[in-house]
Amino acid sequence: MSETPTRSLPDTSARMAPFWSAAKQGVLVIQRCPRCGQHRFPAAELCSTCLASELAWVEATGRGELFSFVVVHHALDPYFAERAPYLVADVKLTEGPHMTTTLIECPPPQARIGDAVTVRFERVSDDFFLPVFRRA
Ligand code: ZN
Repeated sequence: MSETPTRSLPDTSARMAPFWSAAKQGVLVIQRCPRCGQHRFPAAELCSTCLASELAWVEATGRGELFSFVVVHHALDPYFAERAPYLVADVKLTEGPHMTTTLIECPPPQARIGDAVTVRFERVSDDFFLPVFRRA
């Protein structure tokens, strides 16, 4: 009898805590600089444009476009091996930042650069919901 593989989690550091807390509520948040208006993801200590340090978390539209992707056919991680082939996507959010994520409900041959995508939240555990995207 084999154990069900579990998913390894991305950055769960304190710096990203507001992001994961919002994701648990089904809300996508990213950082925004109150001084220059630049959006950031992943979280950072300073704005890369103006070096302000008081970055705020704001709700994102949850929309974007498929900027790039790869199709994984042979995953080394047992959790992902069961799901291959699958898409790892670089989504450019409407606000500007890019997010490395998964494109769901899309057979790999149907994915096209520039596809409009919207966020969904995949339950990984009771405390952890992962933003993934599907074509709009
Ligand atoms: Zn700034």
